Amino acid sequence: MQKGTIGVTTENIFPIIKKFLYSDHEIFLRELVSNAVDATQKLKALAGTGEFKGELGELKVSVSADSKKGTITISDSGIGMTEEEVQKYINQIAFSSAGEYLDKYKDQLSNIIGHFGLGFYSAFMVSSKVEIQTLSWKDGAEPVKWSCKGDPNYEITKGKRKERGTDIILHLDDESKEYAEQSKVNYLLDKYCKFLPVEIVFEDKTINDPTPLWTKKPSELKEEDYMEFYRRLYPAQEDPLFYIHLNVDYPFTLTGVLYFPKIKDNVEISRNKIQLYCNQVFVTDSVENIVPDFLTLLHGVIDSPDIPLNVSRSYLQSDSNVKKISGHITKKVADRLEELFKNERNKLEDKWDNLKLFIEYGMLSDEKFFERAEKFALLKNTDNKYFSFEEYKQLIESNQTDKNKKLVYLYANDSQKQYSYIESAKSKGYDVLLLDNQLDSHFVNLLESKFKDSSFARVDSDHIDKLILKEEIKTPDLPSQELNDLSAAFESVLPQGPHYNVTVENLGEKENAVLITQSEFMRRYRDMSALGGGMNFYGSLPESFNIIVNHDHPVIQKIFEQKRSTMQGILDQISLQAESVKQKLDSIKEKIGDKKDEEIETSLKDEKIAAEKEMENVNQERDSKMKEFAQNNQLIRQVCDLALLSNGMLKGEELDKFIKRSLSLIK
Ligand code: ADP
Repeated sequence: MQKGTIGVTTENIFPIIKKFLYSDHEIFLRELVSNAVDATQKLKALAGTGEFKGELGELKVSVSADSKKGTITISDSGIGMTEEEVQKYINQIAFSSAGEYLDKYKDQLSNIIGHFGLGFYSAFMVSSKVEIQTLSWKDGAEPVKWSCKGDPNYEITKGKRKERGTDIILHLDDESKEYAEQSKVNYLLDKYCKFLPVEIVFEDKTINDPTPLWTKKPSELKEEDYMEFYRRLYPAQEDPLFYIHLNVDYPFTLTGVLYFPKIKDNVEISRNKIQLYCNQVFVTDSVENIVPDFLTLLHGVIDSPDIPLNVSRSYLQSDSNVKKISGHITKKVADRLEELFKNERNKLEDKWDNLKLFIEYGMLSDEKFFERAEKFALLKNTDNKYFSFEEYKQLIESNQTDKNKKLVYLYANDSQKQYSYIESAKSKGYDVLLLDNQLDSHFVNLLESKFKDSSFARVDSDHIDKLILKEEIKTPDLPSQELNDLSAAFESVLPQGPHYNVTVENLGEKENAVLITQSEFMRRYRDMSALGGGMNFYGSLPESFNIIVNHDHPVIQKIFEQKRSTMQGILDQISLQAESVKQKLDSIKEKIGDKKDEEIETSLKDEKIAAEKEMENVNQERDSKMKEFAQNNQLIRQVCDLALLSNGMLKGEELDKFIKRSLSLIK
C-alpha cells in the first residue's frame, strides 16, 4: 500500500470545490460519464491505429446506483490507467485544468458562473469518498485501486478489476444521498448524456442516442427526420417552420441544427431553447452571449468544442471564437431566409406571420442582420398581400407621395378597430399595411429612420387627406366664437378624462360626420413609454384626441341650423352682455394706459379685476348654455357616439344609453 498527498497548487482544493460549484453540483455525473466515454474512444482510436490488438468487446459505459448504500458507480471498458497514470492524471491535478483554473479564479468567486470542466474532482462535490478501480489496456498491467476521502490524502493499493477499464465508485455524502435515487440518475443522464457518442446503459436500458441527427450528413436526412428530432427535443412544442443544418470545419468547428419556431406574440416563452453541446455532451440551454440576442429565439442544438466553457459569461462575449461563431450563425440564418425568399416565396409568405416577430427583433437589434433582412423581409397589407420592401415602395410611390415629396406609408394595427379609416384610405386608392405585433411600434421607427424621405402614419392619426397632404386643405371660415361654442358642445358629450381638441373641417359629404383621431407623434411616444422606452413624461400625460367635425356633412349642417334656431336669442343676449363688459374693460385699460403697476390707483385695479371676472362669468354662461344645448340635442350625442363607436371607444353605460337612444329614434 502506498499513501500520499494529492499535488494541488491550492492549499486544499476540496472546500473550494464544494463552495464554488454549489449551484451546479449535478454536473458531476456528466463529468464522470464523459471521462468514461473519452477512455472508450481513446481505446477505439488505439485499435484504429493498430496499437491495441486485443478484443474491443462491448464498448459501453454503464451507470449503476444503490440508493440504500448511497453509491453511484460508473464503469467503462476503455483504456484504464496504470499506477503511474493514476499518479500522473489523478493525483497531480495541478496539471489538469481544474487545479490551475481554481487557483487562477479563486479571487473572483462571484464572476464565475456556470460550467467548467472540473472533471474527475467534481465527484467530491457530492461524495465523502471516491474510489477508482482500474486496469490499463497495456500488456502486463496490474489492477489499481485508488481512494480518497475528500481531503488531500489518498491511498493506492492493488485493485480488483479483472477486465480492462475503469470503475469510479462514489460514496455520496449525507447531503447528496438523493443523487443515488433512480429517478434522479435518470433525470441527470437524460439531461446531460442523451447524445453522448458511446452507448450509456443504466439499469439495463440504453439511455442515449450515440449518433444524433446533427452528427449525420444533411444528404442522408429527410425533412421528416428533422421534424422527428425536433419533437424529441421539445415534445410540447408545435412543429417548427424551417430548419438549418450547421456544419463548419474552419476556422472553428461547429455542427448543429437550428429550428425556426412559430413565434406568435410572446417572445419570452420562446427563449432559451437552444441547447449547447460540446462533443455531444450537454453543456447548457442558456446560450445568451454565445449567439446574438434575437437568435436565442431559435430552437435546436449547437455543438462546438471551440466554445470555451470554463470561463465567466462576460468573458465569453469578447472571445474571438464566440464572436466568429455567432457571426456565422447570423449569416446562415439570413442565407436560409434569403434562399426561401428567392426560391420558395409562397412558403415564406405562408409562414411569415409566425416568423415576423423573430425577423423584426433581429432587424431591430442587429445592424448586420438588418442589412441582410431588408432584402427578404416582407410587409403585409390589410388585404393579406405580402410585399418585399422594394416591391411595396414601388406599389405606393406614385400615389402616396405628398406635396413635400415625402412618401407616406399608411398602416393599421387593428384592421377591425380601424376599419373605417382603412376604408377611407382605400377609397383614395391608397394601400394600408398591417403592423400589429408587439414590436411594431419600434419597427415603424426603425423603418422610418432607414427609408429615405419617407414617413409612417397610422390610418387613424388624422383625416386621410391630411396624412397624405396633396394640396392645402381649406378649412371653413367660421368665426372663433362659433368654434368655441362647438367645442363646448361636443366636449360635454364626450367621455370624461381625455383631452379633446375640436376642429371643424370640410371633408366632403361622403366622409363621416365626426372623426376621432390621435396624433401619430403622441401615440407613438405613449406606446413606447408603455413598452418601457423610458419616455415617462409622455406616458403620464392624459390621453389626447382630435375631434374633427365635418362641416360638409348634412347632419353637421343640421346641428348648425338647430343651434341657430334654438340658441340664437340666448346667445345674442349673451353676446350683448359680453360686448358691454368688453367696453367696460376697454375703457379701464385706456385709463391705465401704460402706467406702471405701482402707479395705478387701487380703485382702478379693483375695477379691472371685477370686470375681468365678469367677462369670465359671461363666457362661462355661454359655455354652459352650449352644454345644455348639447345635452338636449340628440344629433350631437348621436354623431359623437357613432364616432366613438367606430373607434371602439364606446363602452358600458354610455354604450347602453346609445343603444336605447338609437332605438327610440327609429321607433
Ligand atoms: P480532463 O478530463 O479534463 O483531462 P479530469 O480531471 O476529468 O480532467 O481527468 C483527468 C485525467 O484522468 C483524464 O485526462 C484521464 O487521463 C484520466 N481519467 C479520468 N477518468 C478516466 C477513466 N474513466 N478512464 C481512464 N482514464 C481516466
